[in-house]
Amino acid sequence: MIRQHDLVEKVKSYDPDADEDAINRAYEFALKAHGAQKRASGDPYFSHPVEVAYKLTRYKLDVASIITALLHDTVEDTEVTLDDVEANFGKEIRTLVDGVTKLSRLEGKSENLNQAENFRKLLIAMSEDLRVLLVKLADRLHNMETLNFIKSPEKRQRIARETVEIYAALAERIGMRGLKDELQDLAFAELYPEARESIVKRLDFLRKEGQAELDKTLSSIRRKLDEAGLKTVEIHGREKRPFSIWKKMENKNIEFEQLSDIIAFRIVTDTVAECYQALGVIHAEWHTIPGRFKDYISTPKSNGYQSLHTAVLGPGQQRVEIQIRTHEMDEIAEYGLAAHWAYKQTHKNMKDGKQFRWLRELLEILEKSSNPEEFLENTKLEMYHDQVFCFSPKGDILAFPRGATPVDFAYAVHSGVGDTCVGAKINGRIVPLRTKLKNGDQVEIITSKTQTPSPSWERFVVTGKAKSEIRKYVRTSQRAEYINLGRAVLVKTFKQEGHEFAESMVEPHLPAFNKKTVDDLLAEVGEGLISRQQVADVVIGEKKPAASPGLLSSLSNPFRKKKSGGHTPMPIKGLIPGMAIHFGGCCHPIPGDRIVGIVTTGKGITIHTMECETLENYSDAPERWIDVAWEHDQTDARHIGRLRAQVSHEPAALATVTNVIAKEMGNINNLKITNRSIDFFEILIDVEVRDLKHLNNIIANLRAKEVVQSVERYQT
Ligand code: MN
Repeated sequence: MIRQHDLVEKVKSYDPDADEDAINRAYEFALKAHGAQKRASGDPYFSHPVEVAYKLTRYKLDVASIITALLHDTVEDTEVTLDDVEANFGKEIRTLVDGVTKLSRLEGKSENLNQAENFRKLLIAMSEDLRVLLVKLADRLHNMETLNFIKSPEKRQRIARETVEIYAALAERIGMRGLKDELQDLAFAELYPEARESIVKRLDFLRKEGQAELDKTLSSIRRKLDEAGLKTVEIHGREKRPFSIWKKMENKNIEFEQLSDIIAFRIVTDTVAECYQALGVIHAEWHTIPGRFKDYISTPKSNGYQSLHTAVLGPGQQRVEIQIRTHEMDEIAEYGLAAHWAYKQTHKNMKDGKQFRWLRELLEILEKSSNPEEFLENTKLEMYHDQVFCFSPKGDILAFPRGATPVDFAYAVHSGVGDTCVGAKINGRIVPLRTKLKNGDQVEIITSKTQTPSPSWERFVVTGKAKSEIRKYVRTSQRAEYINLGRAVLVKTFKQEGHEFAESMVEPHLPAFNKKTVDDLLAEVGEGLISRQQVADVVIGEKKPAASPGLLSSLSNPFRKKKSGGHTPMPIKGLIPGMAIHFGGCCHPIPGDRIVGIVTTGKGITIHTMECETLENYSDAPERWIDVAWEHDQTDARHIGRLRAQVSHEPAALATVTNVIAKEMGNINNLKITNRSIDFFEILIDVEVRDLKHLNNIIANLRAKEVVQSVERYQT
């Protein structure tokens, strides 16, 4: 086990100003927290965080990263809380440890590896700070090194696969080639031990056989470069890693013998100019192999990798692969982002850093930033910050724009799921449909075949798909409503005129209304755009506009007042028997609304609609949420629905409104004029209804009235 002193000395070797005391405190804190815990290997658990911390010193990471590594498993695996961490080491360390802990909780969740790309994005998005990702990668490396102590072969295989698909790929993404190679080879040994064994053996053989050849090639390259005056240049012969040989054999379907590029030569220079100079020397001396020259210096790879690649027929007429790059490019190829970070601390006059495209913008800010906070800001991983990644119950990962809600999620799964969505659970807890999704959330959508989309969803969804599906639904259902209403209105009007209404009667007159179908006409009658009298006049023939302005209201109908029962029967499913219930005065839920119960101490349960904005006050108290639904076959229970209407300011307008409601068996409980102008009244009406369908029916009938400008359900 690495000793405390060694770790501290190692950090001080590259950062003489390092806060020695803080590292020592973190070391002792973690040692105490892990206590007698053991690893699968039988070693004290504490040996693991120390190893992880020590690995990070290779990348010359700052003290905060080293401390985070030491503490990285304390919150997840011991009694220590994030508050303890903050109290002892401050806010920055708290944030970093929290980040690593969150990533650890995602381990083993990536079973669906055809979604590896989304999973990698999720990890980056959740890391937020580059150092979190680096600690996690070092953690994975040490776990892979000790993988053989895990007893279950299935578990070992799963971890190894995840390592290749997720963590090695992430290391490559941020340009950490050395770490990527190590992770891949450790996983390779677990997944394909025989294949690896045979590749390693043959490499051994080739190494012995080819050593003389290799030396010869090395010395002749060196001689040519010397002659050209490139004296300080370094040359190495470098063997490919077993895993990348295996990948090549697998992908290109070629045999081991056909692999010419087991050994690659690398020329490392001081300046970019020398790279091209060395390339000129090589190309002048030996025949180039066509199609193998690549200039990643002028066009770096997306992870920042820069180098010249070429292949020639070398001395002895065998293929020789050569990479040419500067020292800095070489270090970046090995350590990636981390190298840059360390570089920044030690080499202030680094000009070539700007070539590092991956970090270019970040570095520019870095160059301008003078204070430490600003510098810290810049270690943030800005990628994917406008996206969130969530799990389906099956473990699929879906990506959304930031601000997306469970309704967006439902529509992303399937438009049918969105249309019948009644509720959602995030990480097993029921939540309001307007809740904003967070990275890593597991989202489960609750559907019911009898439910339909609510127009109010449009106010909070963010994806185009959800928006357009909801609009489409609202449009078609509104149209269906208007068509039915239009038909009903015409049936009555025609009857009054002494005719039996039939659609076939209207059909020949469609051109007169400039309509293509009967439904189009009925819809406009229902919406009040075409008056029923107009239709009657055209279809039945010239007849005096009978003195019947408001037809429906003129049909005699007694204002039937129903007695509201003394107590409300309990129409709710999912409640504890005997628990008192109230209906939210804010949203006035009625059967048919999607609802949720909120436990109020001493008051029982208050029922709100899922869309109610009041629910946001309870978003931090998921334990108070109760999953409830309306009990069906409830007939006599009455509920209050609140409507807001704008009515023309003219005689009998209010009477028309109350008549319509009475005729539709709604009982007006309260009516209040909230606004009065020359042209119209704005009124709030509380109506006792059976359910949502009943209320919607009243709304549709009110809309058909000419005096009613607009009417809608009013929920605060
Ligand atoms: Mn760990």
